[in-house]
Amino acid sequence: MVYAGFDIVPRLSRDGKDKQDWEKFLNIVQEVYEDDPRVEVKANWIEFNVGEYALLPLEGHRFLRFSANIADSTADSTGAGKYIEIVGRIAKMVFGPRIHDWHEVSDGFGHYGWDVVNDNATEMYREFGKPNSQDATSNSNSLPEATSRTQQPCYTIQNIAGKGQALIARIDIAKGTRIVREKPLLIVHPGPPQRLELELTLKLKLHPKEQEKQFRSLHNCFAGEHPLTEIVITNGQSCGRPSNNLAVCATISRVNHSCLPNSVSDWNNDLEVQSLNAIKDIKAGEEITISYLPENVPRILRQIALKKCWAFDCQCDACSLPPQQLILSDHRRKLISALEPMLEGIRCIIDPVGYLKDIRYTLQLLDEEYNDMTHPSAINAYRNAYFLCVFHGDQARASAFAMRAYECMEICLGRDNLCAQHIKCLAEDPESLGPEDSVSNLWESRDKTPPSGLSQEEFEKWLWKHASQ
Ligand SMILES: [Zn+2]
Repeated sequence: MVYAGFDIVPRLSRDGKDKQDWEKFLNIVQEVYEDDPRVEVKANWIEFNVGEYALLPLEGHRFLRFSANIADSTADSTGAGKYIEIVGRIAKMVFGPRIHDWHEVSDGFGHYGWDVVNDNATEMYREFGKPNSQDATSNSNSLPEATSRTQQPCYTIQNIAGKGQALIARIDIAKGTRIVREKPLLIVHPGPPQRLELELTLKLKLHPKEQEKQFRSLHNCFAGEHPLTEIVITNGQSCGRPSNNLAVCATISRVNHSCLPNSVSDWNNDLEVQSLNAIKDIKAGEEITISYLPENVPRILRQIALKKCWAFDCQCDACSLPPQQLILSDHRRKLISALEPMLEGIRCIIDPVGYLKDIRYTLQLLDEEYNDMTHPSAINAYRNAYFLCVFHGDQARASAFAMRAYECMEICLGRDNLCAQHIKCLAEDPESLGPEDSVSNLWESRDKTPPSGLSQEEFEKWLWKHASQ
């Protein structure tokens, strides 16, 4: 056994900012682990069924240590190490340097001695009752899979003429809804087809029969000599950089393409799940779609890429626009694409006004092209605006742009995304952005928080002030 965890030093007080921060911390933990059956919210605790001290009291002043055994077969089956890492990262977002990470092998047992931690725990158990996670090691293998808490899906899987299987909204789905979140059937590292085919054959043999059946039933648009590899290429979705891995999922891999999609599929690298999120309102009966192409490119290039990689001619609303409107759509997409490299590098320091103007222009183009959709490209636009304002000492606008970035991330990626939670913490605590984070005082202002009580129009005017110079 090897223990790891984190301590909070000094311990929290009963009230004031410490109390608020503890509530914020618990909220984030609950949002991240909302669909996780190992994490249970009880009357007095949040219990992680992965180890004795993997629990968080609802009263923060009681808390000293979060820890678990992370290295034996039980820890492997519960994924204890991952819980320790992620809860520790969330704690650091909120409490910063008060969080002391430790690992038994490399750092010893943390700030507090076990006698102090044990006495503290005994006192808590006397007052709150003993949590179930005390017995976690005995029942850890019988816990249900992560899908057990989900209600009836908001979609059905149906056959559509000429498109194969598709996800259809069973009910009206509001923008920002998590449509599905699932563990992939397989995560595959791409390689030469012959070698990959052999690897996949062996991997599938180790899978339960039902999962193998689900994998083999996925669409293959190549029908060549390496059917398993071709299923991966047809259905695999990127696990994000820097990995080249592809995740193949039982449900999300069946979602069809549109150049005007109503959903986004995202790989959550921390939780190792794929999620599908509605980025606009979807009516009951409507097909749920994602874009297979990450870039903003004109129709002709989309058609070539889709034909080559997925062997179909796209007839979505964007591809079927009348000629005049299609020219405008292509023009907007080319511009959005051309503006992307303009928002990288040191231009934010040497030409901040032009940089902010280009961010605003990008957002306008996204609005015109995608209407009521929250496009994932808006996340980067707002995040760049946030960094820009941090660089030049404008904490109030940095906070406002960070909140806009969070709102887009919440819709496109979900509240269980740790990057989204991090930027929300920054937005809510602009004071945490001290002068040391700035490289200039060009836009420095006495206001540290965004103004309240403004109309929407007035707020937009305030927000984009530096782009109006
Ligand atoms: Zn299309």
